[in-house]
Amino acid sequence: MTMFQLEFMQRALIAGLLTGLSAPAIGTYLVQRRLSLMGDGIGHIAITGVALGLLTGTAPVLTAVLVAIAGATAIELVRARGKASGDVALALLFYGGIAGGVLLIGLAGQGAATLNTYLFGSLTTVSPSDLYVVVGLAVTVLVVAIGLGPQLFAVCQDEEFARVTGLRVQLLNLLIAVMAAVTVTVAMRTVGLLLVSALMVVPVATAQQVTRSFRSTFVTACAIGVAACVAGIITSYNANVAPGATIVVLALAGFVVSATIGTLLRRRQAVHAPLTDEEPEVDLPEPAPHVVSSVHAHAHNPACGHPKVEHDDHVDYVHDGHLHAAHGDHWDEH
Ligand SMILES: [Zn+2]
Ligand SMILES: [Zn+2]
Ligand SMILES: [Zn+2]
Ligand SMILES: [Zn+2]
Repeated sequence: MTMFQLEFMQRALIAGLLTGLSAPAIGTYLVQRRLSLMGDGIGHIAITGVALGLLTGTAPVLTAVLVAIAGATAIELVRARGKASGDVALALLFYGGIAGGVLLIGLAGQGAATLNTYLFGSLTTVSPSDLYVVVGLAVTVLVVAIGLGPQLFAVCQDEEFARVTGLRVQLLNLLIAVMAAVTVTVAMRTVGLLLVSALMVVPVATAQQVTRSFRSTFVTACAIGVAACVAGIITSYNANVAPGATIVVLALAGFVVSATIGTLLRRRQAVHAPLTDEEPEVDLPEPAPHVVSSVHAHAHNPACGHPKVEHDDHVDYVHDGHLHAAHGDHWDEH
């Protein structure tokens, strides 16, 4: 009987395949936003979710996804405020997640062995009902990650610009955080909560070595993720070690190979590229003199009665033989 005929291995491989797709998919956005460690934080918080499931006799996948989403929302709200104290708030949240989780798992009468299967993944513990939840969640993440790709990319690339173009930046940021939380739960059974972040970041970093566009990074990272997960699960079965560790070690090995190839490619391009040492000469216009109108109590407006003159990108008002243009809190002589 080969390992592919074992039912638990079939389930582990399906879960691994979906993890390999969804973790790098959302990871591409996280890396772009410089939030590579967000998945790590959510993974810590999700430990409490697992423990709540074990304690109450509910499926840990369900409680984990709820707690992870709550944690991710909290992280995103703290991050969006941008306060210095937010850093410490997040640290407290992460440590609370681990400590609370371990405590509750102990209270549930489970030992370190159970905890380990959630921290580093396990081949034998993906139950049929787990698999349904994992498939549903992974498909949701992939549909959102691909369907809302342009909008999510715009927000990750340049938040200010995205806001100006009318995108609902806060909502999209929250969506990325929630999707990261769902992905953590998807990956929980195969890579485990402590290493899930690696699968969100390493395939993306690997892809970035050899790709240029966002789209090609996205596709390449997903392919690398699937390869690492499937190969990792097979290796894990043969070597009898936790799948999370083998998956992440294989992904890191892929990164080393791709970084080497990337360096060689860039060196070769540098040899063939024409020398571009000299700055291109550009005729810059002389800066316009800036003369502030000294005493100016009147505030011009389109209805104030002073004649208007179009001037480049703004409007000047004719006032006592001068041209006055609004500039910040004062008026310029033009
Ligand atoms: Zn006026
Ligand atoms: Zn004036
Ligand atoms: Zn001025
Ligand atoms: Zn002007």
